[in-house]
Amino acid sequence: MKSYRKELWFNVPGRRGFINITPQVLRCLDESGIREGFALVNAMHITASVFINDDEQGLLQDYEEWLEKLAPHEPTSQYRHNLTGEDNGDAHIKRQVMGREVVVAITEGRLDFGPWEQIFYGEFDGRRRKRVLVKIIGE
Ligand code: ZN
Repeated sequence: MKSYRKELWFNVPGRRGFINITPQVLRCLDESGIREGFALVNAMHITASVFINDDEQGLLQDYEEWLEKLAPHEPTSQYRHNLTGEDNGDAHIKRQVMGREVVVAITEGRLDFGPWEQIFYGEFDGRRRKRVLVKIIGE
């Protein structure tokens, strides 16, 4: 069995943002040389997510608005977590809702997606460098 590991770095200039990272994951798959197996892609930070959905601008804006209704950033005093001196209580909750990781089957050297599936990095407390782990195993 072959094993491949890579860290992808992102620096979202605003507090929140969504990035389609499918091209980077495809590059990892090419580098790995793995034809049959699984790819795990996970955020390495507890205020960011990796998820799969449609790369459609309206939908991404809907996520942003829905998450902000669910866990508004302001007022920051509404979160007990922020009593630690941080201001990212909302970001931890948004990450929990959108998830930590995805697993994608690798078949014949490609990501075995359903129609329209794309891999996204979801940032909820940006303006700093953060990592995503790509781990691919198989043969
Ligand atoms: Zn925090």
